[in-house]
Amino acid sequence: MVEMEREFWDEEIETLPPKELQDLQLERLKEIVRYVYERNPAYRERFQAAKVKPSDINKLEDLQKLPFLTKDDLRNYYPFGLLCVPREEVVYLHASSGTTGKPVVGTYTKRDLENWAQLMARCLWAGGLRKGDVFHNAYGYGLFTGAHGHELGAELIGATVIPMGAGNTKRQLQLMRDFGATALGATPSYTLYMAEVAQEMGLDPRRDFQIRLGFLGAEAWSDELKEKIEKTWGMAAREQYGLTEVIGPGVSFDCGAGQGLHVNADHFLVEIVDPQTGEPLPPGKQGELVFTTLTKEAFPVIRFRTKDLAVLIEGECPCGRTLPRHSRILGRADDMLKVKGVIVFPRQIEEAIMGVAGASENYQIVKLEKGPLTDLRVRVEPTPERFRAEGLAGLAERVAEEIYAMLGVRVEVEAVAPGSLPRSEGKAKRVVEG
Ligand SMILES: [Zn+2]
Repeated sequence: MVEMEREFWDEEIETLPPKELQDLQLERLKEIVRYVYERNPAYRERFQAAKVKPSDINKLEDLQKLPFLTKDDLRNYYPFGLLCVPREEVVYLHASSGTTGKPVVGTYTKRDLENWAQLMARCLWAGGLRKGDVFHNAYGYGLFTGAHGHELGAELIGATVIPMGAGNTKRQLQLMRDFGATALGATPSYTLYMAEVAQEMGLDPRRDFQIRLGFLGAEAWSDELKEKIEKTWGMAAREQYGLTEVIGPGVSFDCGAGQGLHVNADHFLVEIVDPQTGEPLPPGKQGELVFTTLTKEAFPVIRFRTKDLAVLIEGECPCGRTLPRHSRILGRADDMLKVKGVIVFPRQIEEAIMGVAGASENYQIVKLEKGPLTDLRVRVEPTPERFRAEGLAGLAERVAEEIYAMLGVRVEVEAVAPGSLPRSEGKAKRVVEG
């Protein structure tokens, strides 16, 4: 029997009329608020402090009566303070990196894992992954959510999963060729580093590999970098968005229409708020993404503030999905730099650098504290071709001009030889203290 090509992984939910979606969300919101209130003393105390009871939630807007949950709050509840099931119901856990202080621990019941697999399958299917694909999973395995989440979804679709993990790049590339990988899961910066190593090995990523799809995430990356990845590898790059605190990857996804990311809104309620005041913002206004999980059993979060900045997008998506959309991630509130009074995000600097012919995607932003003022020094490498032809001459000046043209701020730029700046196998560290 020939199977008809399905357009959607879960057609009913992905094309649900907005009113029906909102009804479903409200029903689930009421349930989850009651659930955390009854099952977890910390949640109960937080709600009581905000003078709100489960019975006060009668429409979706009532969500705004509930207190926010921040990353710092989560650290205070380390490791299991917000767990809503007996510990023996937890079958899996992940943890965020925790560069400052304690990590955030994400716990999963058996049903949470099943839901996660379904959500990831939805994201990967929308991006074009099918049975028959060979999915080379180069996200870091271990406590990070990225590799495991992608594995669950790819396996459910029936693709062949290569559980490679990050690092050992030459061997990765060898196995990608040997096993005929057609899809790649990795961070955007590692994807480009892999291409760089392939070229050093005398290989052409487009010609000598069969990668047609990249499911890339865990970093805020510019449109220019996305384009460069697509061109270098000959792949379609699909942005994957998620966080350990919410579930891992699988929160929202790129359908390929290039008009934002769809939120899996039957499981996650999305808001955009003013990062300073916490006031909800309407579609079109840039603010901080806030998520409430509607179905998680072990570790539900209510109004979790992600610090990721985006814009809600209204209107219909050409892909036919009715799931609400937000823009690509514009930056993290934490990464915001104030340079001579001008607010600058690393992603904008990346955009400017990528706009200069002969500049590579390898760059570093050095933060220089001069008394109360922050100044920047941007280090940038030329592409190997440009370096062979012209060396470093003129590159720093060109990049400085482009940054000034785009951001209106003059920063010092230093050009360095190819290979001088650190490469990343996971999340790139673009900003360093000087
Ligand atoms: Zn779409």
